[in-house]
Amino acid sequence: MDVRRALEPIGGSPPSLDDPPSGCRFHPRCPAAEAGLCDGAAPPTVGFDDGDDAERHEATCHGYTDAHPGGDAFDRDAVDWVEPAASEVDE
Ligand code: SF4
Repeated sequence: MDVRRALEPIGGSPPSLDDPPSGCRFHPRCPAAEAGLCDGAAPPTVGFDDGDDAERHEATCHGYTDAHPGGDAFDRDAVDWVEPAASEVDE
């Protein structure tokens, strides 16, 4: 089965590299951004173990944590591990 599909672009413009947004760098453009969370703290990285190293993937997003209201876009049951954001580790 061919699972390739076209990616849909997100609206807005890429963030300034000189003055990037606080928190998640995508929050000004993300339809799932949660005010007070995504614009404040850097998100953790979560890993999904599909049982095949070639298929392993990660996401850096609050949506896979209990701090975010979640939704259909976030399959939290598939999360295998969570690594806090570097800024939280240093604190
Ligand atoms: S952390 Fe996830 S939900 Fe929040 S703005 Fe970034 S990509 Fe969107």
